[in-house]
Amino acid sequence: MNCEILAVGTELLLGNTVNTDAADLSGLLSGLGVNVFWHTVVGDNPARLKEAVAIARKRADLIVTTGGLGPTYDDLTKNVLAEAFGKKLELHQDEADFLKAWFARNSHSKYTDNNLQQAYLPEGCTVFHNDWGTAPGCAFAAEGVHVIMLPGPPRECIPMFKACAAPYIRSLSDQVIFSRQIRVFGMGESAIESLFRSEMERMANPSLATYAKFGEVMLRATAKADTEAEAEAMCRPVVEKVRAVLGDKVYGVDVPSMEALCLDIMTERGLTLSAAESLTGGLIGERFTALPGASAVFRGGAVTYCDEVKAALLGIDPALIAAKGAVSREVAAAMARDVRKAVGADVGLSATGLAGPDGDGVNPVGTVFVGLADRDSVWVRALSLGTGRARVRQSAANHAFDMLRRYLQRLPIETW
Ligand code: ATP
Ligand code: MG
Repeated sequence: MNCEILAVGTELLLGNTVNTDAADLSGLLSGLGVNVFWHTVVGDNPARLKEAVAIARKRADLIVTTGGLGPTYDDLTKNVLAEAFGKKLELHQDEADFLKAWFARNSHSKYTDNNLQQAYLPEGCTVFHNDWGTAPGCAFAAEGVHVIMLPGPPRECIPMFKACAAPYIRSLSDQVIFSRQIRVFGMGESAIESLFRSEMERMANPSLATYAKFGEVMLRATAKADTEAEAEAMCRPVVEKVRAVLGDKVYGVDVPSMEALCLDIMTERGLTLSAAESLTGGLIGERFTALPGASAVFRGGAVTYCDEVKAALLGIDPALIAAKGAVSREVAAAMARDVRKAVGADVGLSATGLAGPDGDGVNPVGTVFVGLADRDSVWVRALSLGTGRARVRQSAANHAFDMLRRYLQRLPIETW
């Protein structure tokens, strides 16, 4: 099934809002075996939306729209789509009652008559009730095309897709789609692709595709079969092959992130973590504590940005900093060792380096040392992470988590 995502909203064209719906929906759709071939963005303008629909219906079997389902005059997606496919809009009394009750419950919002517009949906459609906001979404089939309409706000669009649109799409096929996500750190997408290109081109079912995520790569093995068990069995040799070729660069299969994997393992083993951060300014702690359940593992840490604070809070010898420089293998090692001791954790992480744009006169921008210490040993990775402040900082945190997961998986740690 070939799909076009049609995002509606002038704010997307003006650059005020990033079209995250299209990105997130693309990932979810490809997980269902749908080929997303086009992303289109059109403003809140009926004539141009009509034109976009005319183009989309010629080339796609599935059109997924986002936005323009709300109560205001510029919310015109339903009207245009219904008209394009010759469908009338019908009032859904249960949705109208829900809207009135919603406004009665939410004292900060006042019900106005234009809200009723949201309860009008194309005749014969499947209604996607909105448990996350007010405007319902819907799906219908007409003239060989399936149309799915979702609200614009991501906190409504994505849950509605998962709860309502995904089952609708699954019901269109007798076959079951199953996929496995293989997570890789330490190798670029092009390098990975070149290793698997000929196979990826040859394979249809199961298939294998690569996706670059920030600083890492995800490979997705997808199979279509009559049963989930069959599809899963078809994916298995693909996953094994990828693991065999990429070795310990694969950090996990169907895990959300390196830090989530680390949290799981550390929780299971009853291990605790701490971090001393310089250039990352708390990013390592932030990413780890963003995970539910982090409190069982993360004891605390310190943002030790300047030299005096590295000495005062962590007890690093000022003479060491003076001799080696704050951006050095030795200071990274001391930071990891000392923060572990200071907060009484099993493992200490550290990061010190130059995020830029200015260097320190000795090291170029992007010079970063990331450390890991346990009770007995300390490991340090010396890295050149290039330029771009945000990128260097995120990459440093990525490396800290890669070192940690390698430590936990009992693999070589200083792989750089
Ligand atoms: P509402 O009931 O809130 O009006 P709606 O379905 O009419 O929902 P829009 O009015 O088009 O949606 O968008 C509401 C808000 O949702 C936008 O201001 C924007 O912040 C966000 N939004 C809309 N479309 C997208 C998108 N494609 N990606 C990310 N955010 C979006
Ligand atoms: Mg709106």
